[in-house]
Amino acid sequence: MKTGNFYFVKRGNFCFAVTENWQECTEVVCKKGFKSFSEFLKRLPLTPSKSKFCTIYHEMGHANHELSKNYDKMTNLADAKALGITDVSLTEEFLKDTKSLEKIRKYFRDYATLSPQEFVADTFDMLVAGRKVPKDIMQLYKKYEGPLF
Ligand SMILES: [Zn+2]
Repeated sequence: MKTGNFYFVKRGNFCFAVTENWQECTEVVCKKGFKSFSEFLKRLPLTPSKSKFCTIYHEMGHANHELSKNYDKMTNLADAKALGITDVSLTEEFLKDTKSLEKIRKYFRDYATLSPQEFVADTFDMLVAGRKVPKDIMQLYKKYEGPLF
């Protein structure tokens, strides 16, 4: 498995996951100020594995997924517009697959249905935490170039 480095960066009251080439994962995870960065990490919403390190696993998922050549085409539509990304063909395909979205919503959370990027990051979190993932979710994960390890 190839690995990318990632960092959490706090800027004012915002926190971003940033990958090796400093492209932000376009995810604002916090809008309120916290006393310390560790307090902030503790209060992040849980990702599906609910493991102690679930948020870190989720962000590692983004960092590794970003190495795939089609990563930008899997951005959520609002972020793509803001970032000037015009080819979101894979996100559009993902959003048209309502049967899969229903399954993802049921198995993970609504957030994972926004884009292939969030779906892959949530699935990566489950896999790293050693949790079982249904076959059809794994098929989708591979289709959207989820990092294999
Ligand atoms: Zn994310």
